[in-house]
Amino acid sequence: MSPSRSSLPGLLELQGVDSRLLTTVNRARQLQTAESVAALLQRRAQAVAASRELDAVVTAAEEGVTAAEAKVEEIRAKITRDETRLNAGGTSKELMGIQHQIATLVAQRDAAEEAQLAAMDRAEEAAADRQRKLPLLRAADAEARTAVAERDAELAELKTEHERLSAERARLAASFPDPALLARYDELRTARGGGRIAVARYENGTCGACGTRLSPADAATLEATPEAVVPQCPECSVMLVL
Ligand SMILES: [Zn+2]
Repeated sequence: MSPSRSSLPGLLELQGVDSRLLTTVNRARQLQTAESVAALLQRRAQAVAASRELDAVVTAAEEGVTAAEAKVEEIRAKITRDETRLNAGGTSKELMGIQHQIATLVAQRDAAEEAQLAAMDRAEEAAADRQRKLPLLRAADAEARTAVAERDAELAELKTEHERLSAERARLAASFPDPALLARYDELRTARGGGRIAVARYENGTCGACGTRLSPADAATLEATPEAVVPQCPECSVMLVL
């Protein structure tokens, strides 16, 4: 059986569903490859890495303070020990030796105390730097998380919509009375990469698919299409509902 044009208007509804299906697919594809989300995710990864680095700097600086304190304590203990020995007395040679050692230790202690202060300064600076940068990093992280959550929510909605439209399409196709016309419709729709309009209204001398306003001669030919033939746009080949 060849397609007949009597069922053609029924295809407009199917075309509407197919167009909406295509829109959901395109939108989902657009969301999945969106530059903005990719850029935000990259910023988020950088923010996470940067905040880990800041943590490491702070930890290292704190360890530096602990080590410097230990060093000072160690030298102070040695000085105390030598002073005790000095007070216990001995030969003048021994006492001179101890005094010399104490002088050396005092110089070492002064240097260690200076190093301790410098370590404390570094730790303070590291903590302040972290304090300053962390809110920005957290904001970048939160922004990316929100963008991803919003995208995922929209994708979920699109999936639901796609399922609903697919079911509607199946229902419309199953009940369509002219299988040959349906086959022609699907052929036109999926031609050249697919996603094409296959049926449209012809109104005011204009094709509803490509928007071409037909010349008077073309319009006359189209309008005189025999009943047994499915009218088609001379420009884009869609089937036209006259
Ligand atoms: Zn056209």
